Amino acid sequence: MPSPQPYTDTADIGHWIQGGVQRGSGTRSQTVWNPATGTAARRVLLAEAADVDAAVAAAVAAQPAWADTPPIRRARVLNKFLELMNRHKDTLAAMITAEHGKVFTDAQGEVMRGIDIVEFACGAPQLLKGDHTDQVSTGIDNWTLRQPLGVVAGITPFNFPCMVPCWMFPVALACGNAFILKPSERDPSPALFMAQLLKEAGLPDGVFSVVNGDKVAVDALLTHPDVKALSFVGSTPIAQYIYETGAHHGKRVQALGGAKNHMVVMPDANLEQAVDALIGAAYGSAGERCMAISVAVLVGDVADKIVPMLAERAKALKIKNGMELDAEMGPIVTKEARDRIEGYIGIGVEEGAQLVVDGRGHQVRGYENGFFTGGTLFDFVEPSMRIYKEEIFGPVLACVRVPAFADALALINAHEFGNGVALFTSDGGIAREFSRRVQVGMVGINVPIPVPMAWHGFGGWKKSLFGDMHAYGEEGVRFYTKQKSVMQRWPDSIGKGAEFVMPTAK
Ligand code: NAD
Repeated sequence: MPSPQPYTDTADIGHWIQGGVQRGSGTRSQTVWNPATGTAARRVLLAEAADVDAAVAAAVAAQPAWADTPPIRRARVLNKFLELMNRHKDTLAAMITAEHGKVFTDAQGEVMRGIDIVEFACGAPQLLKGDHTDQVSTGIDNWTLRQPLGVVAGITPFNFPCMVPCWMFPVALACGNAFILKPSERDPSPALFMAQLLKEAGLPDGVFSVVNGDKVAVDALLTHPDVKALSFVGSTPIAQYIYETGAHHGKRVQALGGAKNHMVVMPDANLEQAVDALIGAAYGSAGERCMAISVAVLVGDVADKIVPMLAERAKALKIKNGMELDAEMGPIVTKEARDRIEGYIGIGVEEGAQLVVDGRGHQVRGYENGFFTGGTLFDFVEPSMRIYKEEIFGPVLACVRVPAFADALALINAHEFGNGVALFTSDGGIAREFSRRVQVGMVGINVPIPVPMAWHGFGGWKKSLFGDMHAYGEEGVRFYTKQKSVMQRWPDSIGKGAEFVMPTAK
């Protein structure tokens, strides 16, 4: 594979409103870092409420015509967008690596998983087909249809700056809504780039906007009377805030939160496969994935066998600038995030967990100012410890030893998060029992990161999701549409006289 082109744009990052880039009305801005070099790469302009108002006004003006556009013609715009996403996928991936830090090949995977959802949304005519019942009563038919909500918004986290927005806007647009995206201020470039591609694909101006910013922009979206629904993905405290505030303002909300994902390894599992899975799922993307495995639950005598194997592999991770093609792990997104992760490692030591591999202070030659940390491994972690209970969101794997399968299940079910979980075993009966009893939204059997495909929908349980509907898939279509039921009869089937009793089928 030839070396990918690094992304080097240095211009200020503005907003995308009414089909073009705007600087907005504000004077505030924030640094966007290159985490590998530790240098300030660009500035992102932070929106004020007036900029959100401008994006909503453009959306309100454009949405009715978009909603009236036949679904197959909306799908054709998305098909063109799909083609452009495929054409520019390496540009997007390099942009992600430049601002997020994840390795380029992982960024390519992220873009592909976003593209999957665009492909799903291209099926808009099929997805929006209603139900029809002929003759619910003599001469009367009844049908249901799904109509768009109007203007909807999405607020997204830093860890998937392309894929997570794609969980939302392709489905929302396919359903006939106008969409306003508020991306993470830490890696905002992919959102603006996708806005350009949507325009090139033929999306009418105003139907898709990007408002860059922080809490000011989010609060303006949360309280704006013309924003009918909000999709949020991010940390649990903010997810809860978005859910409560949005609901208070009469909006439909789906708010996906944080995670602490466990992987159970049974004594009958293929241990080499389990080690490969744990290393990839704990340290891939430097653990900055909502589906990363951060807890290994080692049943019976598994720990004595695999902790040394894990330690050897964690120490040997190739930690580099993500643009180097053999890199396995890149830097952490910001210095603050790196310091917070390393702070948790200190807490784990104070709490009495055994620090088997210490990633703190990891240096990468030539990138001494980059926000790097190494892979960290703890053993003998107890459920009462903060490093077990709290989301660290970094390359820190905590091993918890339990005597039996029932203890593993009880441990996971008692945790406040319920995003993803995995079980490694060769026993079908245990696997079945686990899938049925575990209180977690997404389950992998010998699959460490079971992110559902585009048509299945993504969502956790407990404090990993506030709201009723999961992201994308059919749940996404339901989220971005309202059901309407129509009952129809024609005059020649209407009997004479007023009816005073509850109508029943005649
Ligand atoms: P975050 O909660 O800090 O930020 C998410 C979004 O909320 C950003 O757009 C940010 O600008 C905005 N925001 C931040 N603070 C706010 C405030 N006080 N008021 C209003 N808006 C605010 O999350 P992050 O650090 O960008 O992302 C990492 C988190 O996201 C982790 O907790 C991870 O588990 C979670 N995540 C969850 C999923 C999932 O599907 N459940 C997927 C990806 C990431």
